[in-house]
Parts: sequence; structure tokens; C-alpha cells
Amino acid sequence: MNEFDLIRQYFRRDIDDVAVRVGVGDDAAVLQVPDGYELVVTMDTLVSGVHFAATAAPADIGWKALAVNLSDLAAMGAEPRWITLGLTLPQADSNWLAGFSQGFFDLAEQFSVGLVGGDLTRGPLTITVQAHGLVPAATAITRSGAQCGDLLAVSGYLGDAGYALTGSGAADNDADYFRQRLHRPHPPVAAGMSVRGRVNAAIDISDGLLADSDHLLAASRLGAVIHTDHIPISPQLAAACDRQTALQLALTAGDDYELCLALAAAAEDDVRTALRAVNRELYVLGCLHEGSGVQLEPAVDGLSQSGYAHF
Ligand code: ADP
Ligand code: MG
Repeated sequence: MNEFDLIRQYFRRDIDDVAVRVGVGDDAAVLQVPDGYELVVTMDTLVSGVHFAATAAPADIGWKALAVNLSDLAAMGAEPRWITLGLTLPQADSNWLAGFSQGFFDLAEQFSVGLVGGDLTRGPLTITVQAHGLVPAATAITRSGAQCGDLLAVSGYLGDAGYALTGSGAADNDADYFRQRLHRPHPPVAAGMSVRGRVNAAIDISDGLLADSDHLLAASRLGAVIHTDHIPISPQLAAACDRQTALQLALTAGDDYELCLALAAAAEDDVRTALRAVNRELYVLGCLHEGSGVQLEPAVDGLSQSGYAHF
């Protein structure tokens, strides 16, 4: 099969969306942004051996390549609409492509996002997804909007994916839970949209709570105290390892794809209600103050790094 046959077989799907004026098959896609909305664009690349093991299940890779991008749109409060896919493959392996596209479209269909274009090249296995979302004009949530005195909070359990990545054994009945948390993250899209207009700042947690909350704080020029006892740990993680290990994973391991939020104390009940309506939760960790950086109360022993950094 040549490049065009591969695209036709694995990546061309009918899209039921009148806003897609031109999709896969032309030189570029043409997309209609409705009046009164803004386009929110993000891109993330997954490299074999860095972001996933070369032996990982192709369907998991497909799912996750999209999930990490939808998570970034979620952190902006955007509704995901369209995606493009840049795929670099060492060879045209039809088993791999069938699995990859299955996982990719499984998640795309859940959020009704259409694949409108991409690129296919030969080389070391690398996957780049660009995601396009919409927000009503001037309502996107940014990292920089936090206010002094805001609460710092997260939308769900942290550390599960990090635990799965360590390869440590879990109780048999929890093994699948950890596998899903690492390989099939559910991007907090509905959560991001539901807190739009209710929170002052947001970031998605991909590199660990410490690193990502620090990005939010730096952008907002503030510091924060995090009460480590308030960090939400799943019952499965609490059962699988000791508390210090669980906290270390939650703080530094990453791949959680939950939201970290800054909100006014007066908005707490409203935000919690909004998140519960979409099956997420509001866990308040602490408070923002003048200054910079994160202070952990009490400190967690044995924290070696603050998150994953490529360079
Ligand atoms: P060009 O040579 O003009 O850059 P390409 O040969 O790269 O065009 O792609 C042909 C068409 O197939 C384009 O519409 C492009 O968006 C689409 N396409 C290429 N790769 C993919 C992919 N992996 N997934 C979806 N669409 C793709
Ligand atoms: Mg091309």
C-alpha cells in the first residue's frame, strides 16, 4: 500500500459536521468557526521510547496521543472539534495501523471530534496530534488568571498512572484499574467546559502536580501552599503502596490528566457542583498567596524531582 492507500484505509472517516467544509483529501482542511467563538489550538507529540514503550499496544498509543491533546483543550475550557494527525512510521505495518487507528477513533468518537487532515512520513515512530477547539469569545481559561487568595484545587485522583508506570504489582483486581489509568486516560473535557467562567485559572496535570501547579503559579505571579494531606489518592493506590510513595507519585509522576484549578473561595460550592455534574470532583489543596512556588505542608520526604522535563 502506498501513502494514499494507507490514509484512505485507516484515517479517512466520514465526518458529520457541516463546519468541516473540506476534510481529508485536499491540500488543507477548511473549517468554519461560528460567529462569536474563538479557535483554541494545541499540539502534542509522542515519541516512541520517550512517551510510550516501543512495545506498547498500538490501540493504547492511538488513544493516548489524542487524549493528551484533548486534555490541553480541556484546561482551556474549550470544546474539542477537529484534529489533525502527523504520523511518522518506520514501516507500514497493517496490524499496527489497524490497532492505532482503532484506539484513536474510539476516543475521537466519544468526543465527536473529526480527523480533518494530517501527514504521513517514514522514520522513527513519532505521533503528533493537533487539536482544535472552540470557546465563546474571551472565555478561554488561562494559566495566568489566578488571584491572590484563590483556592488551589484538583479535579481527581493523582498518582495512579505514575504507579502503573513503575511496573509494581497491584492486587489482581486492581491491575486493570491501573492499566486504564496509564494507557487510557479520560481527558477532563467536560470538566474544563463546566468550570469555564467559574474558575480564574487552570492547567492540566501531565507532568505531575508539583511541576504543573508551579507553571500556573508562575504565569499568575503567585505562590501557594499545598496541604499534602488533602491530595486525593485513589483507594487503589492507597492499597498498593505506602502513603509516602503515593504522595511522591501524585506530586511528581505525571500522566494524570486531571485539572489543577485556581478559584475564588466564594466559587467553591458552585465549582464543586459543576464538576460533580460531569463525574469529576473538587479537591481543595490549599491557597494562593503573594510570592512564588509551591510550599508543601507538611513536607514530603524523598522528593527527587519536580516533574518530567525533556531538556
Ligand atoms: P500534501 O502532499 O499536499 O502535503 P499529503 O500527501 O500529505 O498532502 O496528504 C494528502 C491528504 O491526506 C491531505 O488532505 C492530508 O491532510 C491527509 N492526510 C495525510 N496524512 C494523514 C493522516 N495520518 N491522517 C489523516 N489525514 C491525513
Ligand atoms: Mg504532505
